[in-house]
Amino acid sequence: MTHPDTRISVTVDDIQAASQRINPYILHTPLIPSRFLSEKCAVPVFLKLECLQPTGSFKIRGATNRLLQLSPEEKQRGVITVSSGNHGRALAYTAARLGIPATIFLSVHTPINKVEAIRKTGAVTMVTGDCYDEAEAAAVEYERIHNLVHIPSFDNLQIIAGQGTIALEIFEDAPATRHIIFPLSGGGMGSGIGIVARNQNPPASIWGVSMERAPVMVRSLEAGKVLTLPEEETLADGLKGGLGITNQYTFFLCQQLVDHTALVSEEEIGKAIVFLYKEHHLIVEGSGAVGVAALLSGKVVPDGPATVVISGSNIDLPVLMRLVKEYSGLF
Ligand SMILES: *Cc1c(COP(=O)(O)O)cnc(C)c1O
Repeated sequence: MTHPDTRISVTVDDIQAASQRINPYILHTPLIPSRFLSEKCAVPVFLKLECLQPTGSFKIRGATNRLLQLSPEEKQRGVITVSSGNHGRALAYTAARLGIPATIFLSVHTPINKVEAIRKTGAVTMVTGDCYDEAEAAAVEYERIHNLVHIPSFDNLQIIAGQGTIALEIFEDAPATRHIIFPLSGGGMGSGIGIVARNQNPPASIWGVSMERAPVMVRSLEAGKVLTLPEEETLADGLKGGLGITNQYTFFLCQQLVDHTALVSEEEIGKAIVFLYKEHHLIVEGSGAVGVAALLSGKVVPDGPATVVISGSNIDLPVLMRLVKEYSGLF
């Protein structure tokens, strides 16, 4: 897929190279059938368990692909990012393994379990700003002063190539897949999955699912331009945050590649979390459960074999316990 202005592209070859590069650091995650969802949808439904990755989310794929391509000089300077939590954790974890200093900026609304996990890696952990965009402004200033290498959480070609490796594994393990249903926020994962689906398995369509509360990418796709929306409290905290006013790649790529979108409510997300816990014994965070929420609510209706990306596990346990109490009668 070629970008109109820069002619910079990410190809399936790049994604295959990323897969080779990151393999020693990540899991080829299991793809498991969901009997309940297959019966409900009357097509085979599989779950791609990115929640089992080290650091508890798929973000380790992109972060590791980027870190492994830094120059020796860049490695010495150290890296910085702003994150809603999972990208920061993945970057901090792999940076520590590679001996690269890392600084992570998080907004004050980042769930405490995500902040603590990042602190434990030894990364410089800065909790500042009332939302993602404010944390980002602070990070830009800090990066300039300390001459660090900025590693964005989605709008970067090496990040996109890393996230696309999810789709290589899906088509390897379930070649008959006709629909990939995934959580959509900044669009790094959607871009990577879209490039693989479009070029390697053209009959497959891809569905991006976001929360109803401030779904910036979905609204931007509808408007045909990058929008900013005020952040709202949501169970899908990993999907919060804007596209960046200087978005270069992911908005364009999602415009070209995402076939359908859907939005799910807080109640639908909560029920999907409890469903995955009770039916599949999986601990899944809100962001990781939106695809299943879309199937359970009938907002996404696949007409052939479908794979749902379960993107992360990092839910604050008291939240999980509250939801289990609230919805456990349902499944
Ligand atoms: C970051 C994240 C997403 C969204 O990925 P994008 O590349 O920003 O669209 C989905 N689920 C989880 C758990 C995440 O951490």
